[in-house]
Amino acid sequence: RLSRRLEMIAEDVPAGSRLADIGSDHALLPSYLAGQGKIVLAIAGEVNHGPFEAASKQVNESGLGSIIEVRLGDGLDVVAPGEVDVVTIAGMGGALIAAILDRGREKLGAVKRLILQPNVGEAIVRGWLLEHGWMLISERILEEDGKIYEILTAVPQAETTVTGEELYSPFTLPGGAVADRELLLKMGPYFVIEASPAWVTKWERELDKLSRVCGQLEQSSLEASQEKLAALREEMKRIG
Ligand code: SAM
Repeated sequence: RLSRRLEMIAEDVPAGSRLADIGSDHALLPSYLAGQGKIVLAIAGEVNHGPFEAASKQVNESGLGSIIEVRLGDGLDVVAPGEVDVVTIAGMGGALIAAILDRGREKLGAVKRLILQPNVGEAIVRGWLLEHGWMLISERILEEDGKIYEILTAVPQAETTVTGEELYSPFTLPGGAVADRELLLKMGPYFVIEASPAWVTKWERELDKLSRVCGQLEQSSLEASQEKLAALREEMKRIG
């Protein structure tokens, strides 16, 4: 059975899409979508031989070879310009996702939708989208097996009327604190307004972690530790 995380990513893929799933591992996501008849074509990209073999085996055994092609290569290198209209990149750090998008920019011209699920470093992904003409249209969050995952979906800026400047413009939260661009990139412009239970849990955990580190630093007399402590207190104030 597909994980709820991948299922939620699949829900964001429009019917009839031509998909590139980069870092596809066992090609579970394209296999699920092809099995549902939701996509007309998929490229499952993998940079590592082990997962590439696993993906090829999965596709052959499920008889989905006419829809899914497994390709070995780094990031969007496996895609030709104009070949797909949806790109999914899931289960990696945000810095790696942004690096893959950045290096593959010329492949994104005809792409209508990016569905990204960073395990960490969500702010880097939001920042990349904002800087490169992609409008974040939805943020979703879920907890599965004790871990919290965010799914960020974006479309080309030209396809929407709202601008990135508007989405990330600072505003005052009900408690009086100001949500500025830096905070919105980190915590999510839609999440901050919705404050769903999984999102609240995520930031409560983050605060707990920071409090523990502060506790340890308080016992240290090193100047560097005290500086770090002040920085962490500042960070906690922003989150809390
Ligand atoms: N996308 C799947 C998911 O969300 O369940 C698999 C996630 S798995 C943790 C990350 C996969 O990305 C690994 O199989 C790894 O080999 C692949 N990967 C890492 N860097 C990559 C890159 N630059 N290009 C293509 N694949 C990459």
